[in-house]
Amino acid sequence: MKIAVFPGSFDPITTGHVRIVKRALPIFDKVVVAVGINSQKKYLYTLEQRLNWLEEVFGDEPKIEIASYEGLTAHYCNKIGAGFLLRGLRNASDFDYEKTISQLNNIVGKNLETVFLISEPAYSHISSSIVREIIRGGGDASPFLPATLKLPKL
Ligand code: ADP
Repeated sequence: MKIAVFPGSFDPITTGHVRIVKRALPIFDKVVVAVGINSQKKYLYTLEQRLNWLEEVFGDEPKIEIASYEGLTAHYCNKIGAGFLLRGLRNASDFDYEKTISQLNNIVGKNLETVFLISEPAYSHISSSIVREIIRGGGDASPFLPATLKLPKL
């Protein structure tokens, strides 16, 4: 069975993330959308909130599972028997960063393969960090978020 893990912070989930997961469905038998918990990182939204959003957005799709994990992404993939990591690429800086990480994960994760999907043009400007800035600044982030997503008051 071809299982891919789509790891991220999803702080918050954007339409960019949703498109990558949807486009990956024909490639894999199962896609695990997994929130990585990094104790060094400060998040805008709680883990519970981010998991709830993922459930709302992907809950009806039988090939998608929602999860969270601590520690190395590669170890998590090995643990659940996932042979593939799924990542999106928006631009050259994503590429430079992701290239190194995927080479490391291939070794640490015992032949774990990273599959990259190039962002569609309509989504390549969207990032969670820009969305957080818009939200913090009191702007309307809804053009970048799944239609059903409700943002709590900060
Ligand atoms: P991380 O904290 O690992 O960067 P993110 O939640 O920001 O996690 O992103 C998770 C994955 O989604 C990454 O592979 C990132 O490149 C991809 N991604 C985020 N936004 C987009 C987008 N607009 N188009 C394509 N891929 C995207």
